[in-house]
Amino acid sequence: MRLSKLFGKTLRETPSEATTVSHQLLLKAGMIHQVAAGVYSYLPLAWRALRKIENIIREEMDAAGGQELMMPALQPVELWQETGRDQAFGKGLFTLFDRRERKLCLGPTHEEVITELVRYNVQSYRDLPLLLYHIQTKFRDEPRPRAGLIRVREFTMKDLYSFDTDEKGLGQSYNKMLQAYQNIYARCGLPTLLVEADSGAIGGKDSHEFMVITESGEDEVIYCPSCKYTANTDKAESIKSKIEGGEPLPLEEVSTPGATTIEKVSDFLKVPPSHTLKAVFYFADGKVVFVIIRGDLEVNEVKLKNILHCFELRLATEPEVIEAGIVAGSASPIGITGIKVVADNSITSGVNFVAGANKPDTHFRNVNYPRDFSVDLMADIARASAGEGCPRCGGKLSSIHGIEVGHIFKLGTFISETLRALFIDANGASHPIVMGSYGIGLGRLLAAAIEQNHDDKGIIWPLPIAPYHIYLCPLHLENPQVAATSENLYADFETQGLEVLFDDREESPGVKFNDADLLGIPIRVTISPRTLEKDSVEIKWRSQKESQLMPLAGITATLKELSLANPR
Ligand SMILES: [Zn+2]
Repeated sequence: MRLSKLFGKTLRETPSEATTVSHQLLLKAGMIHQVAAGVYSYLPLAWRALRKIENIIREEMDAAGGQELMMPALQPVELWQETGRDQAFGKGLFTLFDRRERKLCLGPTHEEVITELVRYNVQSYRDLPLLLYHIQTKFRDEPRPRAGLIRVREFTMKDLYSFDTDEKGLGQSYNKMLQAYQNIYARCGLPTLLVEADSGAIGGKDSHEFMVITESGEDEVIYCPSCKYTANTDKAESIKSKIEGGEPLPLEEVSTPGATTIEKVSDFLKVPPSHTLKAVFYFADGKVVFVIIRGDLEVNEVKLKNILHCFELRLATEPEVIEAGIVAGSASPIGITGIKVVADNSITSGVNFVAGANKPDTHFRNVNYPRDFSVDLMADIARASAGEGCPRCGGKLSSIHGIEVGHIFKLGTFISETLRALFIDANGASHPIVMGSYGIGLGRLLAAAIEQNHDDKGIIWPLPIAPYHIYLCPLHLENPQVAATSENLYADFETQGLEVLFDDREESPGVKFNDADLLGIPIRVTISPRTLEKDSVEIKWRSQKESQLMPLAGITATLKELSLANPR
């Protein structure tokens, strides 16, 4: 490809609207263009990189026994109503009406559509197991599209679904996919971390995410350096410290004028926040829920949502709290009625806590559970943090940031049961098919590759997913020998099947090198009057500082070898 003809312009300045590195570099390199919030066009270079990722994924899915098919983005909402997942996805589901006023949605995922398809095609255990996938466009109405290709509303995803007769079969399909995913990331040149994850709106049981570790990542991963326990913060558990407090003492009412937050109460009464109980109010499917947790901890809303089995969860507003008869700032679980109380199990980690009295400017000392109050539900609903104890080995937990680039789930039978996707076993008995679901967002993988591989000058593509392998960079094209040699080399590279971007523009060396660095093509081949004096070209890997001269004779064969190997 001649750079002079390439569609897409590089920019001199970093676009101010972009806050993450991959977003900045993709815009600056002229590789993507925003159409609407979270909706992008891919220009030729980014599209080539995406197609390479797609090919690697397809090859690994096929190698694992997957069969490719294609399902539609446009789906009847009835199918989603049958499984109840229209509610679970809530406003994230894009819906629309056709001319007959039938409600449709744009698929955020395809469990319903594929289960309906499999119900129609599978009758017997002899038809199973099955691994079916497609690579297709998904739609999710993200509340806050951002970070370029990382959080978008329309994206290409590879989603594979496994269908087995039993849990054992599901385990085998799951492990096959786990291995296939590890192969995909390795082939893309992207080290990832396997992390225990929450199943979210997809539902189901076991679930893992693959994380590309990068400081700019929006996901936090909790891990234990001793036993390698690794989980994302939505899911992570931890052992909270025990609070020493001696024997339970009698309840004592104290005046706390103006102390309406844990910080103020703890200052005023001279007790650490860990010796207080904090009340937090949520609004879950239309009802106020009273959540009580130790004062030094934070509520993990994903865990809370899971134990409440609710569709919509948010913090309650002040009027909602007041209407529920609660005194905000001095809210108490003691004597509360007519409202669901959910406790984090940290309230049992000590004695003689300070808690609200449900009277303005008043708190209780020596609050003890279950002596002084009862709860409707108790579970681990706290956010795990670095420094706390590992739930597996008791070691000290650490945390790092990453970008989720793949998610696999053991779904079990809840979708096949509701949609009546059944099979007949060898004895003639009918059972629901046991399912798994496995997704990779292609654009996000591309963005994560840039987050992990760049410097202050631009992108450093891992060779297997680079749009082109070679950046042919002649300097001083007004020199007839440079012009002729570079044209000959370009023709030879093309004939030999090398993937080459030819910078045939009459620009200064500075401009050419800057663009070469920005675009991040792995191997730069420079031809100048100086290199030609030595019958050589200069070879420089984008990922390395040093360059070297190589003889012009036989350079095509040398480059062919280099572009097949990966130095990283
Ligand atoms: Zn551990």
